[in-house]
Amino acid sequence: MSAEDLLIPRVLKILLSKAVSQMDFWAHGMHISAGGYLTVWYYISQGLIKVKLDRLGSHIPKGAEAAYEGLIHTLWLRRDTYGSRPAERSAILHECTHALRDIMQGPAFKKEGMYGSKIKGQLHFDDEAAAYIAEALFYIYDNDVERPIDMNADEQKYGSAIAIFSTANEIAGGLKGRMRAVVKEEDFADLKQKISLDPINATIAGPTDPDDSGRW
Ligand SMILES: [Zn+2]
Repeated sequence: MSAEDLLIPRVLKILLSKAVSQMDFWAHGMHISAGGYLTVWYYISQGLIKVKLDRLGSHIPKGAEAAYEGLIHTLWLRRDTYGSRPAERSAILHECTHALRDIMQGPAFKKEGMYGSKIKGQLHFDDEAAAYIAEALFYIYDNDVERPIDMNADEQKYGSAIAIFSTANEIAGGLKGRMRAVVKEEDFADLKQKISLDPINATIAGPTDPDDSGRW
């Protein structure tokens, strides 16, 4: 069995989970919803979006275990056993949110304006902030508790990750159980700034860099 044969069903199952069926929020003009994730499910099922193993991590940023590469519409995972633990499931959902934005910014949806696809000038960190909020909200629906944050973690080393996840958890807590909930612009901007200051994220893009999604 290939690594892909192991990984793809795990990703598809997350996309059809009860937790995903409860997802429905707007952030900075972007709609993150079960309908959007169902489209991601379809794209992966049809092979339009690939799920691949990246054991050496040449497509995954240092310190991360998963990544979505918009230009080649590929979700990379570091292990073929990845995706069973709660944090891994929510990390997959994070990457699937990038896939969702990639589809919605593409020619199939952009003209229609469905799922907030009509917005112009989506930035790399807009996409990133939406994905962190989605990850936190999914974790709550999937596990009935907030994504835990290790407050004893080395502040110097993990301080920015702690700041990102606490802010995302706080925003997600306010969205929980509400359909078509809207993230406050000031909360979104605050999270986006914390992400752009994080060393892992800062090596990938600058604060005003455009997103590389929607190029099909
Ligand atoms: Zn991301």
